[in-house]
Amino acid sequence: MIVRLIRGDAPARRAVTAALEAMGAKVRFLEFPFGSFLAGLGLENPPLKKIQAMAGVAWAKAAGSRPILAAREQNPHGSLVALGRMEIGGEALALVAGPCSVEDREQIFSTARFVAAYGATALRGGAHKPRTSPYAFQGLGQAGVELLKEAGLEAGLPVVTEVMDPGDVAAMAPFVDCFQIGARNMSNGPLLKAVGRAGKPVLLKRGPSATLAEFVLAAEYILLEGNAQVILCERGIRTFETATRNTLDLNAIPVLKGMTHLPVVVDPSHGTGLRHAVTPMARAAVAAGADGIVVEVHPDPARARSDGDQSLHLPEFRRLAEELRPVAEAVGRRLDLPETLNQVPLLRRSMGWGGSR
Ligand code: PEP
Ligand code: MN
Repeated sequence: MIVRLIRGDAPARRAVTAALEAMGAKVRFLEFPFGSFLAGLGLENPPLKKIQAMAGVAWAKAAGSRPILAAREQNPHGSLVALGRMEIGGEALALVAGPCSVEDREQIFSTARFVAAYGATALRGGAHKPRTSPYAFQGLGQAGVELLKEAGLEAGLPVVTEVMDPGDVAAMAPFVDCFQIGARNMSNGPLLKAVGRAGKPVLLKRGPSATLAEFVLAAEYILLEGNAQVILCERGIRTFETATRNTLDLNAIPVLKGMTHLPVVVDPSHGTGLRHAVTPMARAAVAAGADGIVVEVHPDPARARSDGDQSLHLPEFRRLAEELRPVAEAVGRRLDLPETLNQVPLLRRSMGWGGSR
């Protein structure tokens, strides 16, 4: 069961913990910007009424097949996830850009410098790559993670990279600002728990055949470890259509916003698989209310070791950023491109775009 505590009531926290433990529950205290909770796990018949009646308890809910911590009602204004200089979910849009795979120093440094100069807010790049074929390039592994971080530091950008094995989390953590959980691993419980415990932001990609309800439950795993810094990423689902790699499900944006308080970003690169479709779908995603865009960019897509067909050339990234700005403004959002970034060093949290209270 999940118990919402009245914030700051330490005696209540101790009393409820003791009561749950006496019944044999495993108890965790979870403190988020939007509230304090106790999770009492492992009880067959949780004594809701008894706990509900205790001092300092706002409510107690039986945990079942629906998300509780990730549910919109826990934070109706929407949660913000800090990444580098920005807070994703606020008025300003996130622009996460970089190659599918980190390939070599020159490739990742040149991409990092370029995207930083033209409006990216974070640098992406895979080092542990989930490839369909075991014969395909599998990524540079830990060396790639460290190279990505070096490039990010030089360019002044936080870095996002995929983790595939819970056993890699500890080695990667010092070099990673945001862990990506790839679509293929969306429902990998041990991995979700491991990144939850790492306490860093997580970019959670939707599984290609996951429903939105399943997607939010995957996020719930991370929150249940005490980490609410989760960014949901729609990246296309598998449908009968074969003209595109996946079908970008823009329904997901408003529907997820109704289901959960977590920020929602969109990856039109994997969502379409087609370079020429990336920018139009990025514009559509921003128009539909996405909190940011994740996009693959490569200095020489024809030579990319993965996902070259969907990677933007560097100048196309610049154009994408410029084209997204008026769309953002039309829907009451902001895209801080470099000249405005210098004038607006801090996010204006008071603008009415969410804020974790
Ligand atoms: C990626 O971001 O390069 C990637 C592998 O994405 P997905 O997990 O969405 O396929
Ligand atoms: Mn890719």
